[in-house]
Amino acid sequence: AQTLLEVKDLVTSFRTAEGTVRAVKGISFHVEKGETLCIVGESGCGKSITSLSVMGLLPSNGSIESGEILLNNEPLQNLSQEQLRKLRGNQMSMIFQEPMTALNPVLTIGYQLREPLILHHKLSKSEATKQAVELLNQVGIPNPAKRLNQYPHELSGGMRQRVMIAMALACHPSLLIADEPTTALDVTIQAQILDLINDLKEKLDMGVLLITHDMGVVAEVANRVMVMYAGLKIEEGPVEEIFNNPSHPYTIGLLNSVPNVDDPEFELEPIPGNMPGLNEDIPGCRFHPRCKFAMDKCKVMAPPEFHLSQGHSATCWLNEKEAETDENSGRVTI
Ligand code: SF4
Ligand code: MG
Repeated sequence: AQTLLEVKDLVTSFRTAEGTVRAVKGISFHVEKGETLCIVGESGCGKSITSLSVMGLLPSNGSIESGEILLNNEPLQNLSQEQLRKLRGNQMSMIFQEPMTALNPVLTIGYQLREPLILHHKLSKSEATKQAVELLNQVGIPNPAKRLNQYPHELSGGMRQRVMIAMALACHPSLLIADEPTTALDVTIQAQILDLINDLKEKLDMGVLLITHDMGVVAEVANRVMVMYAGLKIEEGPVEEIFNNPSHPYTIGLLNSVPNVDDPEFELEPIPGNMPGLNEDIPGCRFHPRCKFAMDKCKVMAPPEFHLSQGHSATCWLNEKEAETDENSGRVTI
């Protein structure tokens, strides 16, 4: 497979009244062509900030402190705002949780779909209209020609999300970033939108970076999974490995907090406690105050990333015996 996006040691920080706060504390990952990587974690873990860092869309008090972001081997940090804007119109697109905030309520769907095609792709109005209809077809909107004349509020939430996806596809992105794209939708519509994203990924051979707090969504769409906690990557692996062989207590906790429809006896077991504040100084493993497996050394020594099997790694001392440690730790245990 071909690496589309590569992120190395990303540190993203924010200037706040209380000083500089690191929301992403040094994470590395990649997305291949034709695959979906899900970033999963509780709200505030840094998953949205990670995607905004990639898109170059951080709020004005945020910045990438260090690390590298490469799209098709091109480093993105050195690009100007203008170059980044072009890239966002061509190689990467993003869809968000609430399409109402991204769609303009006073402009028709047709206008909003046509405008970028006319501006950036230099299409005539009639060519742009034709393409807008095609895009709406592609995202499964019935009666597309009629929809073009409607305003966002005339559409259901699911239809609005389809329109957003159509807009994101207009530039033929090689990378689609979706931040909680189905959280605002009811379960049936959610499943349809996830199916759509899956279909489009395959048809268009896109890489998809999908951000969610929901392991149910992960199960639907992920090829690989990266679990984040308090600004750190704590586990990464192929989706089957994450579900069948979770190797970090936090991942196990996330899996145990998914209701099991097939097993009425199953008891929901949410992880007790709260995620630490970004500036909270926690020695050792940042999860240790919430971890029921915490050992003495967890309180003083941060665990390295242990490599367990092909592509599966976990940052937790419990894996020390089974794993090869990464190069940085300088110790190898098999
Ligand atoms: Fe729990 Fe220790 Fe593993 Fe951290 S390193 S998750 S505290 S067992
Ligand atoms: Mg978020």
